[in-house]
Amino acid sequence: MSWIKRRETKTVWVGKVPIGSSHPIAVQSMTSTFTEDVPTTVAQIKELEKVGCEIVRVAVPSIDAARALRKIKEKVNIPLIADIHFDYKLALLSIEEGADCIRINPGNIGELWKVKEIVNLAGQKGISIRIGVNSGSLPKELLKKYGYPVPKALAEAALNYMKLFEDWGFTNMKFSLKGSDVKTTVIANELFAESSPYPLHIGITEAGTLLSGAVKSAVGIGILLYKGIGDTLRVSLTANPKEEVKVAYKILKALNLRERGVEVISCPTCGRCLVNVEELAKEVEERLEHIKKPLKVAVMGCAVNGPGEAKFADVGIAGAGGYFILFVKGKVIGKLSQEEALDRLVEEVEKLAGEEVGGV
Ligand code: SF4
Repeated sequence: MSWIKRRETKTVWVGKVPIGSSHPIAVQSMTSTFTEDVPTTVAQIKELEKVGCEIVRVAVPSIDAARALRKIKEKVNIPLIADIHFDYKLALLSIEEGADCIRINPGNIGELWKVKEIVNLAGQKGISIRIGVNSGSLPKELLKKYGYPVPKALAEAALNYMKLFEDWGFTNMKFSLKGSDVKTTVIANELFAESSPYPLHIGITEAGTLLSGAVKSAVGIGILLYKGIGDTLRVSLTANPKEEVKVAYKILKALNLRERGVEVISCPTCGRCLVNVEELAKEVEERLEHIKKPLKVAVMGCAVNGPGEAKFADVGIAGAGGYFILFVKGKVIGKLSQEEALDRLVEEVEKLAGEEVGGV
């Protein structure tokens, strides 16, 4: 049970995945492939599915990309969101081609009648729309009013779109408000959340490379989640999108909001360490990334703290001179050579998880 009380929202569906306060916070990512390259895009989505991605967004910058959506959808198991900028016709085509949700920023679509056409078709097909409001594309009148993309301007833009869409009879929507920094994003989302019943997609835009992006995202997303805000999230990283999904689960887990997969506990190593813990811990993480069941695995360098930590994990290994001691559920299973240790540890974790090697 989480210690965080989530803001109450409506439920909106992206394909088979419900988004809203009565459902788990859904983890999203975005492909980095050319969408029209169907085999490569499908392969990347499959990899994302394997690490727990629940919804995937793909860029649709061309007619070819929009036409690829149907073929991609046939081959993957998670819902697809079409990411549209500027061209309303690409949004219409994406809806026709089976997108489960359309992500638009009405501020860069142009005249309102174009936005309305998208809304009408989404309504007819029963799919949801994510309305994205960004610092970079605020309506001119709001920029004039506030002089700068301050949080109030972002929240006001999103609330205006909300009213407009409701006036058009459309309520199947969720929102994202992204400023260029953590503070703007957090305050904008808080302001919007006070006045809207719709779910929020949260994230820190252009957060950076793996380490800096993960830290910035953990801080920004973490603050919002702690305040009960956020129904689906994407961690944006300049890295393999699989890393986005892994970081997302780590953030959710740190707040007891969701649990998935193996948590590897490893020691920082010190002058007592005679084995390569860093390499081993990385290999363990990679080889166990397909496991869904929440399990604790310890990789410890030596006998000082090693056996203690390893004992409290579901499966653990601790270096002891030239060999490793293997623990399962606190019991010593045996002494292993470095070569044997990794395979044996993976085998024991898979046994506990009840999952096959390479399973999803
Ligand atoms: S477990 Fe051993 S090797 Fe690792 S930090 Fe502690 S004392 Fe050093």
